[in-house]
Amino acid sequence: MTAEFIKIEGIPKPASRIALGTWAMGGFMWGGPDDANAAKTIDKALDVGINLIDTAPVYGFGHSEEILGKALEGRRDRVVLATKVGLDWQDGHVFRDSRKARIEAELDASLKRLRTDHIDLYQVHWPDPKTPFEETARALEKSVQSGKVRALGLSNFSPEQMDEFRKFAPVAAIQPPYNLFEREIEKDVLPYAVSNNLVVLAYGPLCRGLLSGKMTADHVFTGDDLRKVDPKFQQPRFAQYLNAVEGLKTIAEQHGKSLLALAIRWVLDRGPTIALWGARKPEQITGVQDAFGWTLSKDDMAAIDAILDKAITDPVGPEFMAPPARA
Ligand code: NAP
Repeated sequence: MTAEFIKIEGIPKPASRIALGTWAMGGFMWGGPDDANAAKTIDKALDVGINLIDTAPVYGFGHSEEILGKALEGRRDRVVLATKVGLDWQDGHVFRDSRKARIEAELDASLKRLRTDHIDLYQVHWPDPKTPFEETARALEKSVQSGKVRALGLSNFSPEQMDEFRKFAPVAAIQPPYNLFEREIEKDVLPYAVSNNLVVLAYGPLCRGLLSGKMTADHVFTGDDLRKVDPKFQQPRFAQYLNAVEGLKTIAEQHGKSLLALAIRWVLDRGPTIALWGARKPEQITGVQDAFGWTLSKDDMAAIDAILDKAITDPVGPEFMAPPARA
């Protein structure tokens, strides 16, 4: 089965509905980088039909973009390249900054690290409460006019914030958290995307590995791995999510699929979505084709909801990941 594609307004090449997420490749908050495996993963992604790759300057403080720039040398045209803007860092501490000067400096730094003259999708990583959206939007609109950027996206924005931003610059896509266990966007963000013709790049479709089917209660997270502080991975709540995983596996088995394929398919069947699969080893994405070419029925969706409702009595979202405003 070949990949499924979706059009993002302003970007000539249709994007694959499974994208490679490169946060973990940067190493920071994921227990350290492994550049050789990261490069092989990018090769593998292209081999299995993925053409959209998502990164950000903050992933490894430039490292993820550097790996990507090096790996794509000579074949940049094959991919739809998405990166972000609007976070800064000092001594390992990340904070929001979407002022005009930061955007201009960051864009040139990203282009250099990515070894390209343009970014296909340029996304504001988090809304900056200390900068008017007009300032950010106008600076970004200028980057589109200059040809350095093809299309704009907004990540982690509410509908009200998107409305305000879109008064000053057109937006083609959004990037919220979305997976079987994190469904907040169904209340307002997803309907907003549908009615405003925005493509949804769903981040964390495997819920940071919980939906890989490989996670066990005795798994030990080491180093700076963010799951040491992720509330979903702390007992007694962790057990609830692992119970839900066992239930979801039965639905996957009915389709002859892995849990991982089910988790990705579920995201793809919920709207104009792209699943941002986070991988850093080539073998992790060998199963991409299993998520394409089938769909979940209404009955499957209802059965899934029943499993989640029963197993997860104390749900929690991904809010712990939000970076602070600048001091
Ligand atoms: P994810 O894709 O839900 O999960 C990644 C996790 O899944 C990793 O722990 C990885 O394991 C595991 N995994 C992947 N393939 C696997 C396989 N075949 N078998 C077993 N385990 C597998 O989470 P994510 O990386 O947090 O999110 C994906 C992407 O979304 C990021 O890379 C980034 O591009 C984007 N993102 C954006 C934001 C934002 O604010 N805009 C926030 C978060 C993420 P290992 O740990 O063993 O590698």
